[in-house]
Amino acid sequence: MADRPLTLMAVHAHPDDEATGTGGLLARSAAEGIRTVLVTCTDGSCGDGPGGVKPGEPGHDPAAVVAMRQEELAKSCAVLGVDHLELLGYADSGMMGWPNNDAAGSFWTTPVPAAAAKLAELIRHYQPDVVVTYDENGFYGHPDHIQAHRITMAAVAETGLPAKVYWTTAPRSKMDEFSKIMKELGADWEDPDDEDGPLSEVGLPDDEITTWLDTRAYGGQKYDALAAHASQSENIFFLRMGRERFTELMGIETFVRVQDRTGVATPEDDLFAGLR
Ligand SMILES: [Zn+2]
Repeated sequence: MADRPLTLMAVHAHPDDEATGTGGLLARSAAEGIRTVLVTCTDGSCGDGPGGVKPGEPGHDPAAVVAMRQEELAKSCAVLGVDHLELLGYADSGMMGWPNNDAAGSFWTTPVPAAAAKLAELIRHYQPDVVVTYDENGFYGHPDHIQAHRITMAAVAETGLPAKVYWTTAPRSKMDEFSKIMKELGADWEDPDDEDGPLSEVGLPDDEITTWLDTRAYGGQKYDALAAHASQSENIFFLRMGRERFTELMGIETFVRVQDRTGVATPEDDLFAGLR
């Protein structure tokens, strides 16, 4: 183990997920000398086009959207100090229920073992100590996030290499405050108390969160990484908070540890606890 640097691998669905979910973790890890690898599974072709055009609307050219989002992703990675960006290149499946879900080449229709084999190859290559992805619900039910979860867990099981595996999460205690701010900023935001709403499944009770990571010192980088993805309308609401409020709200990143070989007690405040 001594002949390679400590390594973090984050597996995300779309260009921009790295910033919202793990921007602080990536920036902090890079600052601490940890090698950082970002795997982005899809091309983001179902994202907004220039000027906010939505998929299916006139002027939404998926190839142009992909090119724009690759550029944004490269910029975000530079801001966050990501050492290696790996693109699996699957077609964005769109939101649950969209016809893109079943389109040929979509990430959602790709058999899990096929995509997991590609990821397993990257895990063998980089040998990450820590792997981070989403929970079974893909954090909020997006098919590509669910698929990213599935292929990550399959690749981890196949290789048996990472010492610690985490899923991103959010404390339920914060959801009310969060939705209040998003509404205030004009986002079409669901009420987390709505039992049928998509946010009713998001996050965990505080006492089920194993890992609280203070990334407030890297809030500016996280904000700038998200700003690199300003073409996507859902990011604009976050950016409207401004750096300070954004850092206050998004500066503590939370995770649930689902695999561990270190035996470090939880709650912990460092994903690399027991590995340094
Ligand atoms: Zn996403």
